[in-house]
Amino acid sequence: MNIRHSGIGMTSERTRLRMVERLRAQGIRDEVVLAALAAVPRHIFVDEALASRAYEDISLPIGFGQTISNPFIVARMLELARSGRDLAKALEIGTGCGYQAALLGKLAREVYSLERVAPLVSRARVTLRELRIHNVKLKHGDGSLGLPEIAPFDAIIVAAAATHMPQALLEQLAAGGRMVFPKGARDQRLCLVERGAQGFTETVLDPVNFVPLLPGTR
Ligand code: SAH
Repeated sequence: MNIRHSGIGMTSERTRLRMVERLRAQGIRDEVVLAALAAVPRHIFVDEALASRAYEDISLPIGFGQTISNPFIVARMLELARSGRDLAKALEIGTGCGYQAALLGKLAREVYSLERVAPLVSRARVTLRELRIHNVKLKHGDGSLGLPEIAPFDAIIVAAAATHMPQALLEQLAAGGRMVFPKGARDQRLCLVERGAQGFTETVLDPVNFVPLLPGTR
């Protein structure tokens, strides 16, 4: 057994369940989301030197100037995107270490996640394979373009901030679909876009702090 899976000390299941209880106390209500957070070992997605801090309510560096969001914001985005529904197809923009994608894999039958930084894609792929998560497909590419060949999506989660929502992503939202994204540059707010029969409605929610959505790939 891999030492990272051994479940001792600060990376044990008990530590993870304490994180879930904290999220519940902070207002996360969706039991399916909470169960996913209880099941996916967050410490496996970060550098071993940081593993002991993986279940704290903080964001952590994942290399290439990027961060994995704190557990609350991850849970909040998943809860908003799911809205109590079973999802068939979901899309994430900004795979990073793959943690949120892995969670989304517990909420949706099929998940696609796009990342612009190639080495992050390779690393996340290894982690997901190690955890035997097979319904999450990672792709190297500019997430602003989405995946027209796979669309429409019941849920889209954007894990990087932009001042304007890329039009391509709106078009790839299924009827009744929900998209969650951090809007803004310095003063960011989490936004929820719903695609209803009459078109799109946008709701502005919590203040957040995400890395920017950047064009192109590297
Ligand atoms: N959800 C991630 C956290 C992502 S941090 C996790 O669980 O770890 C935001 C990620 O978005 C970074 O990895 C960054 O490289 C990526 N990103 C930024 N702009 C992007 C774009 N246009 N297309 C795809 N990924 C992008």
